[in-house]
Amino acid sequence: MSKPVWPNGCLGALSLTFDDGMPSQLEIAVPLLEKFGFRGTFYLNPGGKDWKERLEPWKKVAEAGHEIGNHTLSHTCSSNFSLDPNSRGTESMSLEEIEEDILEAERRLNEAFQRRKRSFCYPCYEPFVGRGETKKSYVHVVARHFVAGRGRGEIANSPANCDLHYLWSWPVERASGAELVGLAEQVAEGRWGIMTFHGIHQGHLPVADVDLVELLRFLSRNRGRIWVAPVAEVAQRILDWRAGAVD
Ligand SMILES: [Zn+2]
Repeated sequence: MSKPVWPNGCLGALSLTFDDGMPSQLEIAVPLLEKFGFRGTFYLNPGGKDWKERLEPWKKVAEAGHEIGNHTLSHTCSSNFSLDPNSRGTESMSLEEIEEDILEAERRLNEAFQRRKRSFCYPCYEPFVGRGETKKSYVHVVARHFVAGRGRGEIANSPANCDLHYLWSWPVERASGAELVGLAEQVAEGRWGIMTFHGIHQGHLPVADVDLVELLRFLSRNRGRIWVAPVAEVAQRILDWRAGAVD
């Protein structure tokens, strides 16, 4: 592991991830990323009867080189969000059921988009099914089918030590441009930072477009220091580096 983990002399890596397939990502985030020459990771839920129509506008996003990731069929997560005693969530699911859900989502994504290595994103950052004594992690299920899985954590990932199938990310909703730049700067000590965005300027958990632009300007000026790439690409780079297979 003596060779540098990051390409082109970069000191750290950063992935910009966008969850839930929101319209503002198509309308605002994708054009901004492309204006600055960056590629992001977009985690989609291909559930429901109209899944083909809903995936349609994302085809050109995939063709432009962004990663389309798997976020389960219908954002399956904890029923603790609901007061309805009959609400279905991960507490009442088995490992087999969550695997079926994820694989059906994968089948649909592979039908709509060119088949590529993709990463997975845990809905609501929760990697569990069951409750109490029968609660189980499904990280190993994700590890069987994906190059990486994105969760949530306090700091940027250590390339030598991180679990690629439960990567830490920063939820950045309502962060200012200066706060986003401050987080990005933290990766320069050799780490891989992942930011989790939802709505851009509108919708739930938003970040303002001017704040995203401030981050992208900073990243553009720091291309020689910070490698910006989709999650699957950075994860593959770490796997190659751990195997001693990078130049
Ligand atoms: Zn989500």
